[in-house]
Amino acid sequence: MCLHQKRACVCGREEAFLFHRDNVLPEEVLLALYCPVCAREVDFDPSTMVRDAGWILEYDMEAALFYLGRGKGLVGASPEMIFDGDYCSWYGLSPRDLEESARLNRELESLKREDLRRYVEEVRLRRSLRVEELKAQGWRKALR
Ligand SMILES: [Zn+2]
Repeated sequence: MCLHQKRACVCGREEAFLFHRDNVLPEEVLLALYCPVCAREVDFDPSTMVRDAGWILEYDMEAALFYLGRGKGLVGASPEMIFDGDYCSWYGLSPRDLEESARLNRELESLKREDLRRYVEEVRLRRSLRVEELKAQGWRKALR
């Protein structure tokens, strides 16, 4: 099971859906989340922070290393490894990917009932267009 939760950024303008792979890291490991607006005030520290398309995630590295060592036998992980390994990153490819997918499903609900094959094609097409957009914007998980 993988937990996901919604978290507000420090200034409160934005929210993100977060993913914790295998529940190795508890949610408290994310000390702070900064949207592109509140990230401007942050003195970036690469030993505890990772950037993604203007956002910054700040981890409690002492706790993260403890849980990763105990749960995964992983030693010396960096903030980038935590994010890129999905131990604490976006649910999906971006902060609101989960909501976007839900919206797309709702939008295409009637098509799904009418023509399942066209629905599947449409979802695939829209999704790949969205992934291209996210890549162009530089989101790490889309670029993987
Ligand atoms: Zn903010």
